[in-house]
Amino acid sequence: MIASRFSRRVLILIGLGVTLPALLLAGLGAFLALGVSRALDAQTDRYHLYMAQQTVAGFERELLAHLRERIAPAENAARKGDELAVHAALSAAATPNEPASFVPLAELGDYYLLLVESTPLVYQSGLKDARGRRFAGLMLRDERGQVLGAGGWWIEPGSFLRTHLQPVVEERIVSDERMYGGIESRRQVSIAAIADDGIVVRSVRAPGANPHPVEVGMEGPFEGYRIRAAASTSAPIGATKRLIMLNFAFIGVMVVVLLVATFFGLRYAVRQIELARIKSSFLSNVSHELKTPIALIRLAVETLEMGRVKTKEDHDKFLRRISRETVRLNQLVENILDFARLEAGQRTFRFQDVDLAEVIRETVDSYRLRIEDQGFTLALDLPPDLPRVRGDGPALAQCLLNLLDNAVKYSRDNKQIRVTGVVREGLVGVSVADRGIGIATRDQRRIFEKFVRLEDGLVHDVKGAGLGLSLVQQILRAHGGRVEVASVPNEGSTFTLWIPRAAGTAATVVSEAPTGS
Ligand code: ADP
Repeated sequence: MIASRFSRRVLILIGLGVTLPALLLAGLGAFLALGVSRALDAQTDRYHLYMAQQTVAGFERELLAHLRERIAPAENAARKGDELAVHAALSAAATPNEPASFVPLAELGDYYLLLVESTPLVYQSGLKDARGRRFAGLMLRDERGQVLGAGGWWIEPGSFLRTHLQPVVEERIVSDERMYGGIESRRQVSIAAIADDGIVVRSVRAPGANPHPVEVGMEGPFEGYRIRAAASTSAPIGATKRLIMLNFAFIGVMVVVLLVATFFGLRYAVRQIELARIKSSFLSNVSHELKTPIALIRLAVETLEMGRVKTKEDHDKFLRRISRETVRLNQLVENILDFARLEAGQRTFRFQDVDLAEVIRETVDSYRLRIEDQGFTLALDLPPDLPRVRGDGPALAQCLLNLLDNAVKYSRDNKQIRVTGVVREGLVGVSVADRGIGIATRDQRRIFEKFVRLEDGLVHDVKGAGLGLSLVQQILRAHGGRVEVASVPNEGSTFTLWIPRAAGTAATVVSEAPTGS
């Protein structure tokens, strides 16, 4: 046990030695991947901000060009100081959608300036005409350079954005083809112009599944509108993020596989150590169990041979002892051989209708003789009409004998044993109750495993190979029945064998492979 505890500790240390560094590396991998993912997010956001700002600036330049294209005649007229000609020139360049206006110097105080390429663009904040148009104009000067006023047109910003988004994005963005480490090209950015009510006025390229959208508000005549830049469907950020997620998934799967493999590996090793320990204690238990009855028989035979026994009563006592030890020896050898046969799948059962009451009575009667002189009382409680069962009589008797043997072995001073016949839903049972040492609840499943003997003080003193209950369970399973235990430590145990009730009367021979336990 100490050796096994030591080996367990070594195994746990090996397990920790393998899993901890691996978990550490996996954690580091996950941390690095997270870092890359965050850096990528930040770079993408910065690039989208840049693209949105560039688009806003591009629109301002586009509007400036739009005004400059038409202002030349008005500028000429202004230089001559001819206000009427200025009006006429502006109107001549107007369209039904973009009417012209001249703002005299005296009124310019209500207007704002937006510097585009160092040219002041004149506009009036918030003011719209009935059709939602805004004034956008340029300064007009006379020949001495004195400002005469501003001339311009009422443009509809939404429709200007709608018409010019494509050319602005394609031509007016000043940028390298690839920015910020070359992750995204400007041709992979989705750009949209959005009105103040959130409606998308126009967009170039649709945003992808991982858009990282960044919005920049517009100024001047475009006040209230926004430009949104996002990753498009063809942007590599989506695929890169998927790779990073895949990397996380791989790390997760690797950690799970590692933990599961280590767990099962260690459990297997612990079981092997336990099995080796159990096997070696089984061998010493068996040899001890064989030696004791042989020694007792030899002693009795020698005593009889030497004629030391004087009275007939003593003579019979020695003969009974020899008989009892021979039965015990025989039972042990039978158990071992049966166990080996069951393990090898060679144990055959002769199933037929059996009078279980008869089997119980015979077994109990013969057993009573064996334990009488040890001070045990063996009570038998059989209902008068205990149904017949389908089973192998001798095998069932062997099971009952094993239970009786255990009841005797694991009883202390209270030497009462009761055998009872019981019936329950198609099953007929026989229970053996003792007032012995009992079994703790946590051990009540384990005791049916082969070679298992509890480490209890009394069990230690009692001989046994740890085969009896395993054998009983295998035989009962082959019958389609089962064995149950109910026990309270220091109060006693009740083992019950449940066997299927007989249905017909014909006898058949069935060969049973073990179910394994
Ligand atoms: P063995 O009796 O040879 O050790 P068994 O397979 O018959 O092997 O029993 C396994 C273990 O179950 C025993 O070692 C003992 O610890 C426990 N056990 C079995 N029967 C009883 C009982 N009636 N009372 C208390 N403990 C029992």
